[in-house]
Amino acid sequence: MANKTDDKTLNILLFLCNWGAHAAFLTLQDQLRPIPHEIRMVRVPCAGRIDRAMLLKAFAQGADGVALVGCEPGTCRYGSGSANSLQNTDDVQRILDIMGLGRERLCFGAFLPEESEELLSFLQNFADEINVLGPAGIEAVPVISALNADDLHQELRQLVAAYDIHACQDCGKCTSACPLALIGKPFSPRAIASAVITGGIHSPGVQENVWSCLTCGLCYDRCPSAVNFPAFIKELRHLYRHTALPGQEVHGGFFHSLMRSMSSAAITPRRWGGLPDEIRTDPESPILFFGGCAPYYDIFFGKHSRPQTNKILIDSLRLLNFFDVAPRLLTDERCCGHDLLWSGDKKNFERLARINVERLNGLGIETVITTCPECYMTLHTTYADEGLELKFKVVHLYDFLEEQLDKGAVDFEPFDQVITFQDSCRLGRLEGKVDLPRKLLKRLQPARFVEMKEAAGASICCGNCAWTGCDGYSKALQVRRLEQAHATGSDLLVTSCPKCQLHLACAMEDPFRREQLEIELMDLTSIIAQTIRWKG
Ligand code: SF4
Ligand code: SF4
Ligand code: SF4
Repeated sequence: MANKTDDKTLNILLFLCNWGAHAAFLTLQDQLRPIPHEIRMVRVPCAGRIDRAMLLKAFAQGADGVALVGCEPGTCRYGSGSANSLQNTDDVQRILDIMGLGRERLCFGAFLPEESEELLSFLQNFADEINVLGPAGIEAVPVISALNADDLHQELRQLVAAYDIHACQDCGKCTSACPLALIGKPFSPRAIASAVITGGIHSPGVQENVWSCLTCGLCYDRCPSAVNFPAFIKELRHLYRHTALPGQEVHGGFFHSLMRSMSSAAITPRRWGGLPDEIRTDPESPILFFGGCAPYYDIFFGKHSRPQTNKILIDSLRLLNFFDVAPRLLTDERCCGHDLLWSGDKKNFERLARINVERLNGLGIETVITTCPECYMTLHTTYADEGLELKFKVVHLYDFLEEQLDKGAVDFEPFDQVITFQDSCRLGRLEGKVDLPRKLLKRLQPARFVEMKEAAGASICCGNCAWTGCDGYSKALQVRRLEQAHATGSDLLVTSCPKCQLHLACAMEDPFRREQLEIELMDLTSIIAQTIRWKG
């Protein structure tokens, strides 16, 4: 057997169900049978309780292989444990494939109490396989690094000065615009800023609220003193990472583990598999299309909210092809890091950003086109703000399309739907492109286009930012948005950000209000791709 480990001991984590499989494992221990030394066992009440976040977190924290061992289907004490385990394993295996780690690093086995021999050979075979594969190579920077109280205080003072928090006139305009406050959450940006100044980051008013802010920018837009509260919150979250105070990562931190793993130079993602045959790409093109995390979302939310986020990427490529651009794709494309930065994990963000910029600069390309508003803002603005030098320009697909459409050679098939539009906070307020999607919407030929009550510059957020702090108020906000969409008489809610689609679709799953909230969701890119045609 070839062995890639040399002198490094690999780490294999075994999640072992407390019931049937554990009895088999005990037999092996009683008989002093040689369980592979790389294996560390964690006994769990049910393998089905080890969710996808925990499986992926094991890799993000340095596991080279993970074995999930439970009971034979039909023998689970809790009924659905084995089925859950199989489903979770399948989802994470698909994600590991795209991350470039390979599905082989995660396996599921089911054993009866008397199947100790079978369990032993399963473990030995898995350890052999991981030894052949070698280290997974993920070395994420630890998220929490403690600062002493004096340093923390000093950092906070600098932050308050850098973001001009003392310039606040206490006028209350931010609170009266903040969607969280308007939905009824006891939440006030100016009160948070004031609590930071008077009580530091440990004050309850800050701790409770720092993860809730949507960083949507409405308060900044309204503030007469130009206090950039969302950017202040971003830095405050980073400061929290220097304390033992808990963050509020939703979905068990699944997406944060994914992004942290991406910040390891050693992994080589395998993106862009399974594109439709008709899509034309060109490895020599000076134009690169940057996709973002949509393929991961489609897997993670596949059983829930009918996501179509990967379709947005394919339709983006279709549109580029329509205008005779066969773009280059980065087969080892990583996440842009947006959610790491906005959830306070600046260390891993910086690492990831440097890898991305070096990789893209090294290609000799002229232009990066992207559709995702978060990728756009991060590549276009944030990387430069962080001092990284880009040797290419970053263009949003809508800008490219608007330029092409202005030439006048194409129009759109009419379609018989009334449509309304959900703005992306990143593309609209934060990147100043409120009018751009509207120019495109006006070119389409729906039965009617009707704006929601709070639209354009006053648009409210889809209820979540950077996978942090999703709670009942986020849901209330999403419900309010969906009610506003229905109030326009529309039967199609057009989005411009994959996350808006996911979060709004999530709210529609409410079993008690589903029928009132349901509305068709489609991304603007997909509608354009579906209806565009050459004139004449
Ligand atoms: S809008 Fe600006 S000046 Fe007014 S209370 Fe809020 S942060 Fe202070
Ligand atoms: S960024 Fe948005 S959610 Fe956060 S305080 Fe400002 S208005 Fe409220
Ligand atoms: S709204 Fe739904 S999909 Fe979005 S973060 Fe909350 S639970 Fe997750």
